[in-house]
Amino acid sequence: MSTVRTRIAPSPTGDPHVGTAYIALFNLCFARQHGGKFILRIEDTDQVRSTRKSEADILAALKWLQLDWDEGPDKGGPHAPYRQSERSAIYQQHAQLLLEAGKAFRCFCTAERLDEVRKQQMTDKQQPGYDGHCMHLTQAEVATKLAAGFPFVIRMKVPREGKCVVRDLLREPVEIDWSQVDMQVLMKSDGLPTYHLANVVDDHLMEITHVIRGEEWINSAPKHLLLYQYFGWEPPVMCHMPLLRNADKSKLSKRKNPTSIGYYQRMGYLPEAVINYLGMMGWSMPDGSEKFSVQEMIASFDISRVSLGGPVFDTEKLDWLNGRYIRESLDNQQFIERYAAWAFQQDRISQMVPLLKPRVERFADVMPLAGFFLSSVPPITAASFVHNKLSAEECLRLLQFAVWRLEETKSWERDMLEQSLVELSQQLNVKIRDLLFPLFIAIAGSAVSVSVIDSMAILGLDMSRARIRHALAVLGGISGKQQKLLEKDYQLLATASPPAP
Ligand code: GLU
Repeated sequence: MSTVRTRIAPSPTGDPHVGTAYIALFNLCFARQHGGKFILRIEDTDQVRSTRKSEADILAALKWLQLDWDEGPDKGGPHAPYRQSERSAIYQQHAQLLLEAGKAFRCFCTAERLDEVRKQQMTDKQQPGYDGHCMHLTQAEVATKLAAGFPFVIRMKVPREGKCVVRDLLREPVEIDWSQVDMQVLMKSDGLPTYHLANVVDDHLMEITHVIRGEEWINSAPKHLLLYQYFGWEPPVMCHMPLLRNADKSKLSKRKNPTSIGYYQRMGYLPEAVINYLGMMGWSMPDGSEKFSVQEMIASFDISRVSLGGPVFDTEKLDWLNGRYIRESLDNQQFIERYAAWAFQQDRISQMVPLLKPRVERFADVMPLAGFFLSSVPPITAASFVHNKLSAEECLRLLQFAVWRLEETKSWERDMLEQSLVELSQQLNVKIRDLLFPLFIAIAGSAVSVSVIDSMAILGLDMSRARIRHALAVLGGISGKQQKLLEKDYQLLATASPPAP
């Protein structure tokens, strides 16, 4: 049998997600258990949403968790480049092959036409999807449209009859009617591939033998299998892992749970505890032990032991496990070293110093001012929000609006945050100082603190959001009904009074 090769293929479109680390861990264990290779590929074909910063953060987060890969954009390897944006010619070439073989076609349909088709399908209660309009264009018609410079995408042909059988390591084979499968766009009008084409081509060229990924991709499996068939390639073994869930069993979402790995790092979780905890997601050691290292996990790994019931990513359980690591695995000297390394990270400290230096006279003044940077949520009560102008209800409203606005902010940088909040205060017709008051309490625990905007920029989105969410709870929380009303008000806000130029 060929060498086992697995991969993690993150899209660099945001903060490094715990779900990425979870999938990476299972890929790593599977590869190592078989003496194989684990590859990191960056799927940055979405040029609008992908950023180099996000890529760098994802790599750093996976390294922090010691999920090390054998080949990747930073390491190179026999199948370089490992960044899809550097592989455009390969996808063009493969799309061309499919066109020539009659397995794909150029589609010139406009967005308006596609919209009409979709609406009609909805009215007729039909499965929405491309209706095959351009599949039947003659070569001459295609040539005329190309000569006239009409934009086009390339779509894959999908049979309208018959069934596809999807096999998965964790499931019984599933039969899906081809008529349920859309004629997927493979190349966009800008000449860049979609996820489906790039992913299949790369998995094949990078000799991936096992695709272990999140369950959310299972619906793409028929399209991918068909592409393998069209190219005449052997498909990899597929394994779709259960999705991580919030405590209420909904899909893990950052609104309910911090999802960025950076949050856990900043909160002072130990990477070995986080990775151990991720290993407990849908999996367990054969002897039932709950505290185990990656090496121990690899030694006992058996993918068929993954259970499909949605694993709950529960920070309380993680706290318990992290506490065990601190107590049982660190002697006092190690505790000192690990704590110091965590608390005095150069890059973070250097962001804080300009805020602290002008306000202190002795080093003894530093900790009372900076303590909130190194803590979890501040110790606040409803009384902390007492203000001469704002009622508790008003504070609640401002905090909720602020958190919505901050979540929409394109990049989590000081000036952007400031601009968003100034805009919000204008739309609300409140003084920026008043809008910032409840944020000061939520973030720093006191209105007498260093700039709250700078503080949020340093703390990051997840840490800031967790604090604001805590403050909302301290203020009595927001009922479902209240939430709906606030959402409505918030939407009106953006439309009714556009921000001053
Ligand atoms: N780029 C996809 C993602 O962000 C990869 C999915 C897959 O593993 O096929 O999750």
